Amino acid sequence: MTYKSILFIKTFGCQMNVNDSEYIIGQLEQLGYSTTEDIFKSNLILLNTCCVRAKVEQKIYSLIGKIKKMKENNPNVILGICGCMAQKEKENIFERAPYVDFIFSPSQVNNLEEIINTVKYDNKKYISCDNTPEFSFNHIPLKRESKISAWIQIMRGCNNYCSYCVVPYTRGPEQSRGVSEIMSEVNILAKDKYKEIFLLGQNVNSYGNDLSQSATFSKLLESLNNINGIERIRFTTSHPKDFSFDLIKTIKKCNRICNHIHLPIQSGSTKILKMMNRKYDINYYKNTIKEIRNNIDNIAITTDVMVGFPGETEEDFMDTLRAFKEIEFDEAYTFIYSNRENAIASLLPDQVPLQVKKERLWKLIDLQKEISAKINKKLEGEILEVLVEKKSKKHIENQFSGRTGTNKTVVFTSKQDLLGKLVKVKIIKSSPWTLYGELIY
Ligand code: SAM
Ligand code: SF4
Repeated sequence: MTYKSILFIKTFGCQMNVNDSEYIIGQLEQLGYSTTEDIFKSNLILLNTCCVRAKVEQKIYSLIGKIKKMKENNPNVILGICGCMAQKEKENIFERAPYVDFIFSPSQVNNLEEIINTVKYDNKKYISCDNTPEFSFNHIPLKRESKISAWIQIMRGCNNYCSYCVVPYTRGPEQSRGVSEIMSEVNILAKDKYKEIFLLGQNVNSYGNDLSQSATFSKLLESLNNINGIERIRFTTSHPKDFSFDLIKTIKKCNRICNHIHLPIQSGSTKILKMMNRKYDINYYKNTIKEIRNNIDNIAITTDVMVGFPGETEEDFMDTLRAFKEIEFDEAYTFIYSNRENAIASLLPDQVPLQVKKERLWKLIDLQKEISAKINKKLEGEILEVLVEKKSKKHIENQFSGRTGTNKTVVFTSKQDLLGKLVKVKIIKSSPWTLYGELIY
């Protein structure tokens, strides 16, 4: 009987991890692996981890503990840990879970052949968490989850050292991928009939700062906008301190760039922003929003925000509520501040009690729900262009979902298979999170 190589991979965290997993699967398929969603059918288990918040890390350690039993029952199973938690914890993972076979950091994600061969054939434990001198995916195979929308990491790492965040320690300093490498990847995607590209970086606005040629994010967007076949260009994340007027002009000018900007505010209090080392104050943030809205019609703005940063008083939290009421974001990703040992905020006094953090979170979520509901209600009766991405998960016959350029999810029914098509939908009903409509023929 031939020994089949079967991979189970679980990805935690951000879109960059999702894209890293696409590269991992692509390389492993070339080495003869097939993938399964049933962990018990696999003989290679990979956890692509995140450690931005402590809760996720605890969850991953608990999953590693459960896999121990599986390995005891089947010694052929190989267990690997990669992603940000691997970089942060390094050998500690072997100490806590000696049955883990290999560990590698995000910068080693294009090195799967060497990693797997060492573990499988040399029967050795493997750890590699070194940063590589440049960021490239040239000639690295990947298996994309979607045939419609493609993630593209244009840079990795971060130089900003927000005081709460582990990313600069886990993903290393900013490194941009070369313009020609990105352009050739997107040209191939256009030939493969992809409709949307989603550019990824921790701070896309500083794209190119580390490249010798005079590459900027605006110039990259302009070049990508000329690639025929790609209908939509999205990107995340923009740091408010680097969101330039030049970029606003580029978004306005380039017809393929979607009308959606994700601009994390993190807090509405200037005092807290300073303690977070965000390098902007709340007036600067609000002025940036004003400039964006004055210059780009029909632009959706979403944000990330945190409650319970050390020293956040009731008044600071009220500042966040006031900023939310004034700005009216289309959507917000809300987080409870989580102490991360590498990040310097963990050394700050006045940690906010968990119960207070939870109460603030719910107040903010309730407010944002009202705002999103109000914004979406205004769209009822409008005809919007939707890129159809999925068949309904709820198994309702003929139900599809897609997104508008402003990143709103739209659900509608059609007897025709419209996956990957741009269609017009008349909105008839809305909720804070979803629009429901009828297809316009
Ligand atoms: N680079 C992006 C930026 O600067 O906005 C964000 C990357 S971070 C992985 C995603 C979000 O996680 C952040 O915007 C922040 O709101 C949240 N986050 C980061 N560190 C956190 C922490 N220690 N506790 C809670 N939320 C955190
Ligand atoms: Fe973390 Fe700040 Fe860098 Fe974003 S910009 S990844 S929040 S350090």
